[in-house]
Amino acid sequence: MMVISQLLDIGTLLIINALIATMSLVALAVATRHIGNHDDQRGAAYLAAGYGLIAAGFAILFAPGFIPVLESGALWGNALLDLGTIAHFLALNAICQRHGAEFWVLPVALALGLCELALVARIGPDMRMMVALGAGLRACVAMATVFALWRCHDPARRPIALILAGFHIAWIVMLVLRITWWLGSDASGRGSDPTSSFGLTARLLLTWAIAPCYLWMIKREVDAELIRHARQDPLTGVANRRVIWQLAEARCGRPRGKVGVIAIDIDHFKQINDRYGHGTGDAMLMLVAEVLNRNLRSGDVLGRIGGEEFLILLADDKIDARAGLAERLRQAVADAALTLPDGTPLSCTISLGHAAMALPGKGWEAAVQAADRALYAAKHGGRNRAMGAEELAA
Ligand code: GH3
Ligand code: MG
Ligand code: MG
Repeated sequence: MMVISQLLDIGTLLIINALIATMSLVALAVATRHIGNHDDQRGAAYLAAGYGLIAAGFAILFAPGFIPVLESGALWGNALLDLGTIAHFLALNAICQRHGAEFWVLPVALALGLCELALVARIGPDMRMMVALGAGLRACVAMATVFALWRCHDPARRPIALILAGFHIAWIVMLVLRITWWLGSDASGRGSDPTSSFGLTARLLLTWAIAPCYLWMIKREVDAELIRHARQDPLTGVANRRVIWQLAEARCGRPRGKVGVIAIDIDHFKQINDRYGHGTGDAMLMLVAEVLNRNLRSGDVLGRIGGEEFLILLADDKIDARAGLAERLRQAVADAALTLPDGTPLSCTISLGHAAMALPGKGWEAAVQAADRALYAAKHGGRNRAMGAEELAA
């Protein structure tokens, strides 16, 4: 960082900082127009405001007459940078869904800011005091931001929040080094600031990092959501047909072993819809899926493959015990009940057909067809029962 600092003079660093803040503001405004979640909308607005304030702050610091940065405009430029830093803290607090948990830092920041203003008004722009109070204010706000990022629990956002916390920690280290240098040095408080290029380079990295990290968080969350939609049945939350078929076909590519399946259909489900309404029908579907899922053995995979039809791809090592599982599932669903709004319980039954096929051989589709035939026989046999394909053949 020191090498970069020596390559660039303060004016260049101020311009680059202002440009990066402006570009980030534009990128955020374009990229976050359609963000739905309330916290994210608030967060994006604070981020954009922060970038606007930071860009304006650097522009004032750079404006002719304010270099070296000890002219009176330096105070207002720095005040805008501090407000921008606070806006970014508010943004990341919202984005990490901390709901104001770190707001204790705001009165601390206000007190430090007012002290700085009062001191400048009384004794003029003294660099030692301005750096100690200004950098102290930013270090406190950055520390509170690190707390918010560290406690971000959303699994999609947390890894990026930790990266961003790292950028803030690097900035805090730089601020502490600046404060230490100024407090320990015997440099005149009214000369130029030899630590500024170091500080501006660290600030540049942080300003650059926040917008891409935020967009990266959103992207990871959207990706996770898309993957969930592609794999899950939206009503019951169990796997969808695609997932079951992919898993099963992968298993059927093996040269030996078996593939086993149980086909399940709710009995007289149409009557539930007709008598109690589609909403109650949906609630019954969710209940049945939940009961089936709860009673599976490890390695069994449940999927909803149609309206009131489910399929279980059986665990490889438990295919032979499928009749016992089918009977247990039938009993568990018959014992479960929904509670209707008037307090009366409503239960349903299921019919099940199960089958297994040796590999290599006719494979998955053949196993499903055999299980379907067994299910059809269970329906014709009076419903609320489980039948195996081998019973049909017998
Ligand atoms: P059987 O015992 O012979 O299986 O009779 P059934 O009434 O269960 O079978 P049928 O195929 O006649 O009816 C299935 C019903 O499932 C018809 C359809 O409206 C309903 N259905 C399909 N998907 C959904 C859904 O997502 N929600 C609700 N509430 N109903 C659904
Ligand atoms: Mg059906
Ligand atoms: Mg049915």
